[in-house]
Amino acid sequence: MADYNVIVIGAGPAGYVAAIRCAQLGMKTACVDKWINSADKPSLGGTCLNVGCIPSKALLDSSHHYYFMEKEAKGHGIKSEGLSIDIAAMQARKNKIVKMLTGGIGSLFKKNKVVSLEGTARLISNTEVEIVANDGSIETISADNVIIASGSVPTQIPVTPIDNEFIVDSTGALAFDAVPPRLGVIGAGAIGLELGSVWSRLGSQVTIFEALDDFLSVADRNIAGAALKELKKQGLDIKLATQVTSATVANNEVTINYQGDQQLLVDKLIVAVGRKPYTDKLGIADIGIEMDERGFIKVDANRQTSVAGIYAVGDVIGGPMLAHKGSEEGVMVAERLAGQKTEMHYDTVPWVIYTHPEIAWVGKTEEQLKAENIEYKVGQFPFIANGRAKAHGNTSGMIRIIADSQTDRILGVHIFGISASELIAEAVLAMEFEASSEDLARTIHAHPTLSEAMHEAALDVDGRVIHS
Ligand code: FAD
Ligand code: NAD
Repeated sequence: MADYNVIVIGAGPAGYVAAIRCAQLGMKTACVDKWINSADKPSLGGTCLNVGCIPSKALLDSSHHYYFMEKEAKGHGIKSEGLSIDIAAMQARKNKIVKMLTGGIGSLFKKNKVVSLEGTARLISNTEVEIVANDGSIETISADNVIIASGSVPTQIPVTPIDNEFIVDSTGALAFDAVPPRLGVIGAGAIGLELGSVWSRLGSQVTIFEALDDFLSVADRNIAGAALKELKKQGLDIKLATQVTSATVANNEVTINYQGDQQLLVDKLIVAVGRKPYTDKLGIADIGIEMDERGFIKVDANRQTSVAGIYAVGDVIGGPMLAHKGSEEGVMVAERLAGQKTEMHYDTVPWVIYTHPEIAWVGKTEEQLKAENIEYKVGQFPFIANGRAKAHGNTSGMIRIIADSQTDRILGVHIFGISASELIAEAVLAMEFEASSEDLARTIHAHPTLSEAMHEAALDVDGRVIHS
């Protein structure tokens, strides 16, 4: 008999959620993780909790408070003379939040009776996992099923080699101990925009180099255009269609060469050009698990790999590299192992970029619908016409709802505006329930709230918007 029903490799949002759900469903479950934090201690939660979603949002919130005090408080009649920043205190607050949340996973494991094992896992067969503990000791454990949730790591590019001092990845950029007066960022994706915003709000002169011609090419074009305009207004110098050819460090500064003969000197350079699947030391090729040409583990509709009994979830299988996508895949695999018929709905995975204001969307863009020859209608409502947004003092952006011309079913919702990350949840739920724009238009929304902009956008799909 095997030691466990399930061994989960990786305790990021995909792995720890899978492990907890397996245990809730009565499976004897172990979760192995090898993360060692900057204090040299094991830490659960993977990229998301240690160096991703959570620390970035802590710094985004702190830096936004500063930005508000510096630029906007006056408009509310609040005086902010003598305003200053204590980066060490800001970083200590961020570290405390990370410590609390990563520690919380240990408590959740205890509560749900998940056995938490520290060390590096390697697959020996479809039922056996070797674990090299942090003290070097080795043990082999067995299970009926294994779930791989080993995540991803930053992609590096040869022209800007990371030195972790002047040229850093997202992890380094979350740990600056002072505001770099001049900051370069390569990549205007989620990380580039979020971390670029953090340091720009705190006083850095930020230049972002993006290789593509289009800004946020995966987002709705109107939303991306409005966001680009607003972020430029906030001081981010976003250079589209720009190739960095090299970056060299000398005299405590980085010389960035771009577009052939152009140069920019910065104090720090963040490389944020995407992430790649992480499968080092897992031994997956040795036991015949297939990967695609980009190194993502191949899975079938049940998230089972090419080796029976071994499943994979989260960033390591590709698709949107988002914490909530990985967590839901973890739940799906756990429930399917327990005989349930759980499915993942990739069409309703929400995306959020935590700039200020935020960018959020779910479902299809107009470009995708055009390419699929689907006829659609669009309703739009600007936050400038929303009473609550006016009271907040932040009226940038809009909500756009795209519905099928024939059936009125909502096909996509795109938001640029304050609290977009929270507002999008209504759209996700509506799409999960296959709602029409008429369903949203007939739903009573509290006044005065930002959610009224969603209501009005739904009314606008049918040409009966009230307040604009
Ligand atoms: P990971 O979180 O990467 O966890 C994998 C775990 O497996 C790690 O702990 C690793 O140590 C462990 N592991 C790997 N190999 C082994 C092995 N052989 N043995 C034992 N353990 C192993 N996503 C969002 O949805 N919202 C956000 O706001 C957001 N912000 C982000 C900000 C930043 C700066 C970054 C870098 C990412 C952000 N992401 C965000 C993406 C998000 O962090 C990832 O999508 C998510 O962490 C993926 O979860 P995962 O469980 O698949 O992998
Ligand atoms: P990304 O894919 O979001 O953006 C990378 C950007 O870099 C793209 O716009 C790409 O065109 C550009 N790029 C690539 N190579 C380049 C080059 N040589 N020169 C200039 N530009 C180049 O990746 P990311 O921002 O590194 O984030 C990594 C992953 O983490 C993403 O998959 C993202 O989903 C996830 N993440 C999510 C959130 C969130 O949900 N709010 C936040 C941070 C990260």
